[in-house]
Formats: sequence, C-alpha cells, structure tokens
Amino acid sequence: MAYRRIDGLGELRGKRALVRVDLNVPLKEGAVADDFRILAILPTLERLRSAGARVVLCSHLGRPKGTPNPEFSLEPVAARLSELSGASVAFCSSTVGEEAEAAAAALTDGEVLLLENLRFQPGEKSNDPEFAAALAKLGDVFINDAFGVCHRAAASVVAIAGLLPAACGELIAAEVDALSPLREGTAPRPFVVVLGGAKLGTKIPVLKALLPRTDAICVGGGMAYTLLKAMGKPIGGSRCEEDLLEVAGEILEASRLQMRETGQELVLPRDHVVAKALDGSLEGYDVVEDVPDDVMALDVGPASVAEFIRVLRSAKTVFWNGPLGVFEQPPFHLGTEYVASYLAGRQGDCHTIVGGGDSAAATRQLGFAERMSWVSTGGGASLLFVQGEDLPGLSALPAAS
Ligand code: AMP
Repeated sequence: MAYRRIDGLGELRGKRALVRVDLNVPLKEGAVADDFRILAILPTLERLRSAGARVVLCSHLGRPKGTPNPEFSLEPVAARLSELSGASVAFCSSTVGEEAEAAAAALTDGEVLLLENLRFQPGEKSNDPEFAAALAKLGDVFINDAFGVCHRAAASVVAIAGLLPAACGELIAAEVDALSPLREGTAPRPFVVVLGGAKLGTKIPVLKALLPRTDAICVGGGMAYTLLKAMGKPIGGSRCEEDLLEVAGEILEASRLQMRETGQELVLPRDHVVAKALDGSLEGYDVVEDVPDDVMALDVGPASVAEFIRVLRSAKTVFWNGPLGVFEQPPFHLGTEYVASYLAGRQGDCHTIVGGGDSAAATRQLGFAERMSWVSTGGGASLLFVQGEDLPGLSALPAAS
C-alpha cells in the first residue's frame, strides 16, 4: 500500500502544515536523554521548511492521562529540536484553543512551532472528533509522520486525517518502504526472524503469522521460557506465562509440522545465562543447559548464540524484534550484543531490519544501529505492520494517486 506523500499536497508555501510527530523521548532531569526520535523527524521538517510551509508540530510524551502535568511537558523537547534541526522552534504551552491558534497564525514561511503534549487533552486517546476539529484549526494540511503511534486510533492520528488534506511524512514513507517487503512476503530469502523480549503473550500473533512465511525463527529473551516449559524443559524461576502454556504447545506442534513439510525451523535457546536475582549481585551466576530451580535465565548462552548465528549465516533478510536477554543489565546483554554484532558485520550482504522499542534501544546502546539496514521507530506498530494488520493511522491516510 502506498500512501499520499508530501508531494501530493501541492504548493505548501505560506500554508500551515500540522504535523503529527512522535517526540515521546526519555527525559532525565528535565533534558532529553535520547535523540533517536527527534533525529527521525528531521527529514520531514527540512522538507517542509524548504518548501516554505509554516510548520505546526504536535506529539504526545509519556502517559499524563488526559490532564496537564508539567512532568510531561514537551518544552525541553522544543529546545533540543532547535539544537538538532538548526531551526528556531517556538513552543506553545497550549495544545489547542486561542493561544495555539494565535501562535500558529503568527508563523511565517519556514518557521516551526511545537504544541504542548497532546495527551494533556482527554480527547486525544479517545479519538474525539471535537478535539480533532480543534486541532484542525491549526493547519491547512495534515501530515502524519508518527509511525510509532499508527497502531493507536488517537485523534491526532486518525480523526484529524479526515478533516484536512492529508499525507504521510518522510519517516512514515521510509518505514513503509522498509517494512512492506516483510509484510508482503517479497523480501529476499532466506528470511529469518529473531524474536526476544519479556513476554510471549505480545509476540504470539507475530509468531503465528510469520512461522509459515519465513525460513526460520530464532527465539530468545524471557518469551522463550514459556515455550521451553511447554516442551517439558526445566526453567527454574525464569519468566513463565502459565496461562499461555497451551498456546505455546500449539505453536510448537505447528512448527514441528512445518519443519517436516517445508524445513522451516523454530530455534529455541539450548543454554542459558542464569542468576538468582536481578539485583546486580550476580549470585548464582552460571551458564547452564538445564535451568536449576533456584535461579532464573536472564540471557541466552553461548551455544544458543552459535546456533542462532548458524541459522542467520544464510539469511538475506532478517527482522529482529526484542532483546535476547536483560540487555539493560550487564553481563546479560552479551547474547544480544553477539547477535547484533554478527548482523552488523553482514552489512551490505544481509538486509537487517530492527523492530522498534527495546530492540532498537539495544542496537543503539550497543553501538550497532548505524550498520543495520533499518531501525524502526515503532515497536508495537512495526510488529503489527509486519504481521499484516491494518494500522488505523495508516488506513486513515489517502492512497497515493
Ligand atoms: P519487550 O518489550 O517485550 O520487547 O521486552 C523487552 C524486555 O525484555 C527488556 O526490558 C529485557 O530486559 C526483557 N528481557 C529479555 N530477556 C529476558 C529474560 N530472560 N527474562 C526477563 N526479562 C527479559
């Protein structure tokens, strides 16, 4: 599916472009702690400014639950965006209403305004048409460049798109270009998926959807232990979702059949880095094949990494979502680091696409992001898109003509 792009909106000089961006960045002591999402919107910003548009940016930050809360103000983000873009970004302490309308009306060609947090307004999350109408007063055209929220039917993502001439921005266009071959099954084969992260529950739909469409799926992270338990393996105190053991058994059975018929593999960890607790003490730290009762598995072990790399060696396309261990706490980052470093070394020879969220954070933190083919800005959105779901924020945009 191709969506109307900025070109399709015609002449933008002198027009107010209301742009939904995803500036939901981590803040530390009142300053932006990670620039990833800010850098991701710069191509759209640059494009609009050079076309002479008057840019009105809107975003959410954190979960202020529909009421103003200074802790979640976007003001520090405006300052950082000014530094990174080289544009002077004005900040408006209202999201909609008279003050915001006056600030948007005062813009001249190429100027940029950032509105206060959309989620200070209860109508944002509920996709309220009245709130969308108030937002629509701030723009002549609407551009959605917030891929990370396209799976949520929020007013600034869905309702607004029906009220103004709409298009997708440069980031959404690039995300759709990068992820569509995975969704449509046209990515170069062999296509291998690496899945990790805490919970099996959130990854079941993608496992089911991708198992028949890929050549192999390597599973690590906390999600692997419900599957291993369903196979009858000892998992000690590792993360287990007891209510999913039956579904886990069904997935294993489906993968066994698939393996027999078509050779597609589901590869689970065969050894584990364990410890008694995640308290930094490393008490009980060991590498084991069978997890003893008094410890929990916090990373995949070296034999598992070797097995994943054996499978990845022939891959031409890789989709990776979820860290393989508790990467935030060394030494449980090593499984993720080895696999990331292997894939970084295949730059140019294998197309590696990293789903957003924690896997994107891990590849950035470990210094490999630059050598991946694409690092998505959307965690939940990229998973849902790849597994073939319709994202409401994309469905609300007009098709390319
Ligand atoms: P998700 O948001 O589902 O992708 O999960 C990411 C989280 O999974 C990260 O915070 C990791 O620390 C966590 N994680 C990865 N492996 C494990 C594990 N073996 N046990 C517990 N948590 C894990």
